[in-house]
Amino acid sequence: MKINNVNLSKVTTYRFGGLCKNFIILENPDDILEIPETINSANTFVLGRGSNIAFSDNEYTGYILKSEFQYINKTNNLNILEVGSGTYLPELSRYLKENELGGGEFLLGIPGTLGGALKMNAGSYGYEIATNVLEIKCYDLDEKKIIILDKDSINYSYRNSNNLDNKIIISSILKFENCDPKIISKKMSDFNMRRKKSQPPGIYNAGSVFKNSDNYFAGELIENAGLKGFSIDNVSVSTKHANFFIAKKGAKASSLFSLVQHVKEKVYDKYEVNLEEEIQFIGEFT
Ligand SMILES: Cc1cc2nc3c(=O)[nH]c(=O)nc-3n(C[C@H](O)[C@H](O)[C@H](O)COP(=O)(O)OP(=O)(O)OC[C@H]3O[C@@H](n4cnc5c(N)ncnc54)[C@H](O)[C@@H]3O)c2cc1C
Repeated sequence: MKINNVNLSKVTTYRFGGLCKNFIILENPDDILEIPETINSANTFVLGRGSNIAFSDNEYTGYILKSEFQYINKTNNLNILEVGSGTYLPELSRYLKENELGGGEFLLGIPGTLGGALKMNAGSYGYEIATNVLEIKCYDLDEKKIIILDKDSINYSYRNSNNLDNKIIISSILKFENCDPKIISKKMSDFNMRRKKSQPPGIYNAGSVFKNSDNYFAGELIENAGLKGFSIDNVSVSTKHANFFIAKKGAKASSLFSLVQHVKEKVYDKYEVNLEEEIQFIGEFT
């Protein structure tokens, strides 16, 4: 197993991040057996495609393990698949369409891996990945063993999972419904259109910055607080959708962090609402 020097700005959609001298790519599940003994959940971050992450501009001194387990295996039941955690969600979505399986149309517009989606309980347009999960195979970084978690033990809720923090997700058993490919295509293009209309393009951002709640849409609160277009040092609140914060090329993660703090303060001052981040800041931020 090779430990690499990687500039983290190359491995996330925001393009933020300093150097990591302990960057390990896991290409297939057998690589897990070679993970150095010194690695544990306290000194390691598990990375997918970095589409929900802002790494600090400083050097990242821990280990980063990146899952590239990319496979989709059929099982005896045509509705049930075993999918590797490194599988790109739009590819999974297209595979499902080709195999006349419905329920994965929403994954087409989410530029992450299955591992990231399972951790974040990714979703859109009323769908979320938790609905499809039967079980998840993981490597426990502290117990140093492979375990299978059933869906109930993950206790999924909106953009949240439990029991996955100290683990590398290897794969998941997912269930989908038979569906006419014409209906699947229609849903995919509807979702695509809605996304294009309401959201900025998928570069130099990490999707929604804050979680919504039953009582509010974060984007609406930010817009009504007069913050659409507001910027700090080359990172701005999108003028298209106020819950997307867009960086310019060369912008710093510290500017995004400052913008997030500023927006939280202003929204709290106006609505007494504590916005909760959906994106994750990893490394040192002050
Ligand atoms: C343009 C754009 C649109 C987006 N739209 C949506 C949307 O509609 N809905 C939505 O929910 N999200 C959306 N996102 C956010 C993001 O794509 C999702 O959260 C995605 O599931 C993250 O996957 P990832 O592989 O990039 O994970 P990363 O960003 O790399 O990591 C996210 C979390 O998952 C963990 N993780 C990743 N892989 C593994 C693994 N193998 N084992 C254990 N833990 C792992 C990480 O440790 C981290 O905690 C959007 C992002 C962008 C840039």
